[in-house]
Amino acid sequence: MKRVQLLPIGKVDAELLGGLAALVPDILPVQCEVLPEVLDPAPAFHGERLQYHSSELLRYMARFLRPGAWRLLGVTAVDLYIPILTYVFGEAQLEGPCAIVSYHRLRQEAYGLPADEDLLLDRLLKESVHELAHTGSLLHCEDYQCVMSPSHGAEQIDLKGSRLCAACFRRLNWAAP
Ligand SMILES: [Zn+2]
Ligand SMILES: [Zn+2]
Repeated sequence: MKRVQLLPIGKVDAELLGGLAALVPDILPVQCEVLPEVLDPAPAFHGERLQYHSSELLRYMARFLRPGAWRLLGVTAVDLYIPILTYVFGEAQLEGPCAIVSYHRLRQEAYGLPADEDLLLDRLLKESVHELAHTGSLLHCEDYQCVMSPSHGAEQIDLKGSRLCAACFRRLNWAAP
């Protein structure tokens, strides 16, 4: 079975990461494990935006790729951006092998609301499956319930499901090296 490895980027909640590793195989036919190493995000910090450049972090992740791993998913608590956008929840290399997700803006606290750990894990799972499916060549889907529908805010993540629609599942390129 294909292996997905999770790489903590900076200080990441270990319980949340473990929860994610346990849930991803419910959605995608993969094994999932957490790597013991940690990637320091500091070199990707932008001093004026006070955010971290996600595309740079994707590049730094390459050195953590291990033989036998199908995909490497970086998970971080820091706020991510790409230059044309205010922020991103995540980014993926189309056709792989690396993807990254941030839970900075998935936390209810980011919107002045009380913490909700179950909701946080649910949102992180959806965004992780979304980015991993991008690495399997999937593009965005118009089915609002499909995990591949695009989300520009946390409320849109809550509207969609954590699974791929049947069409996306068929399209997912499992043959990708
Ligand atoms: Zn997307
Ligand atoms: Zn779909």
